Amino acid sequence: MSNVRTRFAPSPTGYLHLGGLRTALYTYLLAKKHGGTFILRIEDTDQEREVPGAIDLIYKSMHEAGLNYDEGPDVGGDYGPYIQTQRRDLYPKYAWELVESGHAYCCFCSKEDLDNQRKEAEAQGLTWKYNKKCLHTVSLDEAKKRIANGESYVIRQNIPTEGKASFDDLLYGHVEVDCDTLDDNVLLKADGLPTYNFANVVDDHLMGITHVTRGTEYLSSAPKYNLLYDAFGWQPPLYLHLPPVMKDQTRKLSKRYGDPSFEDLLAQGYLKEAIINFIALLGWAPKDTNEEFFSMDDLIRIFDERGINKSPSIFDMNKLTYFNAAYIRKLSPEAYAEYAKPWLTQVLDADKYDLPRLCELLQGRTEVFSQLPDMVRFLKDMPGFDSELYINKKSKSSLETSKAALEFIRPIVEGITDWNETTLHDVIMAAIPESGMKTSQVLWPFRIAITGQAATPGGAFEMAYLLGREETLRRLAASMEKLG
Ligand code: GLU
Repeated sequence: MSNVRTRFAPSPTGYLHLGGLRTALYTYLLAKKHGGTFILRIEDTDQEREVPGAIDLIYKSMHEAGLNYDEGPDVGGDYGPYIQTQRRDLYPKYAWELVESGHAYCCFCSKEDLDNQRKEAEAQGLTWKYNKKCLHTVSLDEAKKRIANGESYVIRQNIPTEGKASFDDLLYGHVEVDCDTLDDNVLLKADGLPTYNFANVVDDHLMGITHVTRGTEYLSSAPKYNLLYDAFGWQPPLYLHLPPVMKDQTRKLSKRYGDPSFEDLLAQGYLKEAIINFIALLGWAPKDTNEEFFSMDDLIRIFDERGINKSPSIFDMNKLTYFNAAYIRKLSPEAYAEYAKPWLTQVLDADKYDLPRLCELLQGRTEVFSQLPDMVRFLKDMPGFDSELYINKKSKSSLETSKAALEFIRPIVEGITDWNETTLHDVIMAAIPESGMKTSQVLWPFRIAITGQAATPGGAFEMAYLLGREETLRRLAASMEKLG
């Protein structure tokens, strides 16, 4: 067991979106490829943004995705609790340590004060940052007295007014900013809870995190976090910031715009293995291979963070669907049937059809399970269709040949009582030469007449078999009547 420890640290603000899932996946792979430990930490200190039920949904999605964490709120571990609000008593001590060493200070400015300062700055066309008023006007002794008197306060990071802050990223290299561009962020809020800016540093340190993986939206704040590591005298972790997953050139994937979450995709009938495979390749490519199908075990073996692309990746639904279709084809017939059944029975009465046979026919044609109800609805209800469907250039069928074909085939089909595909095939194929027509000139209209659609999950014999004798004959008669 190596000592690599990585963490996925979502805020419980809703569904696990696909960008988050990719971060979780890379974080998991990074730990597993080194034989290390993968941790789930819930960052819920911004309680206003918390969505009820979101924490449970995170656990569920992570387990469903196969991203099983070694430590986390619902699985335990030696570094818990793993939910930040449950760690609330732990942060003030560290914040005060910084206050005592001068790297932080108590601030008593009211919201009104701050709003006024902000407005003033904006009026001058400046980007507002806190002016360190309380650092300069309230001594530590006085601060302690005011706090003892019950006054509300926050603790702010005391960013140096000059010099540079920096950190090194595994993907983006050395990132450096001028300290005077940084704001004295709040570390500990008036309600005693830490902000993300503080909790991420304290927790990553206390949990022994060796690699911090997260979105590039944190790239510009990371120098500030490094100042905190320095102030504490702690060794900073290695950082790996990940570019965003985009819907298109201009905007990030977002639930707000109706982009699907991981759960949505599962509900639409995407297989988790296909989603994971696809997500892994969103902005990462393995070296020295053109192979694109990888199981989780393959990914653990070959993942290398140096293969991550710095530019944002675009989420291509068609590509995901292509992966899904390939994974569906690889399922065993039994597994396919298990996935397909709930979709098929939305439309079909399970007792009325040979579902295993139907599944066999559908498997190679299914891209997404949610397509199935539409693909099989014709078995239940004969669709209305246009006679034009009988006209097919490929089989050289016209309305006239079709009419003749249906008249020819009807008594033959009526004569079949042993209703299975082999008999249907053998009897009809043996008879066709008598008709003087080409096989396709007979089978094409037959299939149209009993299914009402050009594309079906199988040929005429399979469809007739699935429909059953009575229904096939009924449809045949009705279609012939319609054709006149
Ligand atoms: N809680 C942060 C988020 O959900 C994660 C940032 C991090 O991993 O440090 O965006």
